[in-house]
Amino acid sequence: MKWTTIIDTNGQDQRVLDTVLKELILDHIHDMIFIMKVEEGPSFRYLYINESAKRYTSIQHGDMGRLLEEVVSFEMATDLQEKYTQLVQNGESVTYQDTFFHTNGSQVVNESILTPIKDGYGRVEYVVSITRDVTSSILEKKKLMKAKERYKSIIEHNLDAIFILDGQGIIKESNGAGCSLTGYSKENLVNMNIYDLFHSQNEKLLTESLMQTLMGTPSTIDYSLLLNEAGEEKITQLKLVPIVVKEKCDGCYIIVKDITKHHEQNEMIHYMALHDQLTGLWNRKALDDHVPIIIHNMEERGIELSLLYLDLDRFKFVNDTLGLKGGDRFLKKITERLVTLTNEECLLYRQGGDEFIFLLKNSGFEDTKTKAKEILALFIDPFTIDEQEFYISPSVGISRYPADGYDSNSLIQKAAQALFEVKEKGRAHYRFYQTHMKSSFPNYIIMEAHLRRAIEKGELYVHYQPQVNLATGTIDSFEALVRWNNRKFGFVSPAQFIPLAEETGLIHQIGEWVLEQVCIQLQKWRNKGYKTVRVAINISPKQFLQEQLVDTIDFYLSTYNLPASCIEIEITEGAMQDTQQTLKMLRKLKELGVYISVDDFGTGYSSLHYLKRFPIDILKIDQSFVKEIGLNQKDSAITTTIIHLAHSLGLEVIAEGVEREGQVDFLKQANCQKAQGYFFSKPICPKEIEQQQFVLM
Ligand code: C2E
Ligand code: MG
Ligand code: MG
Repeated sequence: MKWTTIIDTNGQDQRVLDTVLKELILDHIHDMIFIMKVEEGPSFRYLYINESAKRYTSIQHGDMGRLLEEVVSFEMATDLQEKYTQLVQNGESVTYQDTFFHTNGSQVVNESILTPIKDGYGRVEYVVSITRDVTSSILEKKKLMKAKERYKSIIEHNLDAIFILDGQGIIKESNGAGCSLTGYSKENLVNMNIYDLFHSQNEKLLTESLMQTLMGTPSTIDYSLLLNEAGEEKITQLKLVPIVVKEKCDGCYIIVKDITKHHEQNEMIHYMALHDQLTGLWNRKALDDHVPIIIHNMEERGIELSLLYLDLDRFKFVNDTLGLKGGDRFLKKITERLVTLTNEECLLYRQGGDEFIFLLKNSGFEDTKTKAKEILALFIDPFTIDEQEFYISPSVGISRYPADGYDSNSLIQKAAQALFEVKEKGRAHYRFYQTHMKSSFPNYIIMEAHLRRAIEKGELYVHYQPQVNLATGTIDSFEALVRWNNRKFGFVSPAQFIPLAEETGLIHQIGEWVLEQVCIQLQKWRNKGYKTVRVAINISPKQFLQEQLVDTIDFYLSTYNLPASCIEIEITEGAMQDTQQTLKMLRKLKELGVYISVDDFGTGYSSLHYLKRFPIDILKIDQSFVKEIGLNQKDSAITTTIIHLAHSLGLEVIAEGVEREGQVDFLKQANCQKAQGYFFSKPICPKEIEQQQFVLM
């Protein structure tokens, strides 16, 4: 239906227009419709307005047939006159928007279409204006725009890089942070494949995440390496979020967080957790981490591992001299030297304080020995601190995997036990762990608690080592040596627990117990009718200084009905410091009638003076000299000298620690009366002594 056809008609058609258009369409639509008749001028006369127009404007039915300027305000008339005139002149439809205030004060935005209706000559005869209130749709649009801008702002100003990907993983958009992170411009990023931004090692993970996200479920990748334009690696964390439009996934956002710095900080924390701050060496925690890995890697090849536990001798004195800071500098200098021995197979750790640990991978016994010697050799030259030269030596205890333990803890413990032995035996050398050291580890506090109850628990017993008369081969004396077999520590050597007993005062109790045990044993043998023998009892310096020692010995001798001559008291040179008191005590013992011997002779601060003054009966040559007989001229000479000295003073001599026949021959030649050692017999229990009948018959 053409408007022109309908309007440009006779009266009959006009009625159709009136009824059909007016009632059905014009009066029922929400848009305002104005039809103006164009007259000379041109001027415009209201011909028709629909119900909507009447509702929203002040124009009423009565205004029909009146001119524009007669109906609306001057301002509006001028405005409309201009628009209508333009339409008449151009003959083309125009659309425009205007804003006005409703009678109720609200702002209304209208959109109008002006359409010309022309006569047969192409002249504009009528102007039809259809005006729509677009206020709400404009507001909607504005809201939408705002939301769009907000969303754009989130993306654009986000500190994390955000890329919009299509379903094929092609970048369709990137924000500014995406450009900064990657180094590419927006233009370059667009149409780039996301895989091109990441290290190939991430490919699989990225594919899985993309697939999951494009199926509609967001995903994350905690660690991925992004390669920027300059080829630098950035550690990133990814979040992939699906873009769902009308319930269909239309690509995804990929949010890339640069965690390089965070990661570096973590690395730093990790580094600090595993390294010693002073020296920069690995620390104990690192050792605990490394050992299982090394063992695991070696196990397949069945190779061994050595742990060398190094402790600086008397470092406390260095600290006392240089102060803590100076001590630290010293430790750094030492570290510098130690580091020269490290390589892929030889790792170095600071265990703490003045203790270091070397781990030697794939090392046999001989390689380890060589390494230990190399470590010792590093300390031959002095260390210079503040233009002052310091000499220091290390002690090294060694344990080996798998022989001594399967984890760092037990390997360290065993090496520490070996180290303890090194310290005990004069420091500045190295020693491999041996099973006999098992119990020697000085966990003193626990050990003391156990030692306190050793007697009542029946853990102590006495062994006897025969002393052989070298001239006749007969045996008429023994040395009593206490033994401790503890539930926790196993067999503990007296060289370990006697010093502890001395320190804690337990020595008095233990010493007295040994004395009584020896007396009980001697009485048993006497009762069995065995020949009379003498037993030497070790008396520690502390015991020796006890006033009541003589009374105690006297008490047990009489209790078990024994002559004093069957007891020998072994004291060390160390116990003879205070000459007055020593002399008094020795005299009393002599009065009682026991024998007195000097144990470990030659190792203490010997003074020939006391040999003359003190009432001593026997000298026991320390095993360190005996050991070297025939091997070391000096020691052989010392042994001979001690024998001669003893003879000239009228003393008996016993050589300790005789292990070889050569030593026996040498001692015999030097006229040494007696010898004691593994060559003849180890210290054994009374029962065994009885079994070797010749001993007691
Ligand atoms: P010591 O009195 O010098 O005892 C000699 C040590 O040498 C003993 O060690 C003995 O087992 C060991 N020995 C004997 N023959 C040989 C040998 O041929 N080769 C080697 N390598 N060693 C040999 P043990 O029994 O371990 O005693 C160590 C130290 O403990 C003793 O040294 C002594 O000082 C102390 N001790 C032992 N029993 C007692 C005791 O009842 N009271 C006190 N106060 N000290 C004791
Ligand atoms: Mg002894
Ligand atoms: Mg000795």
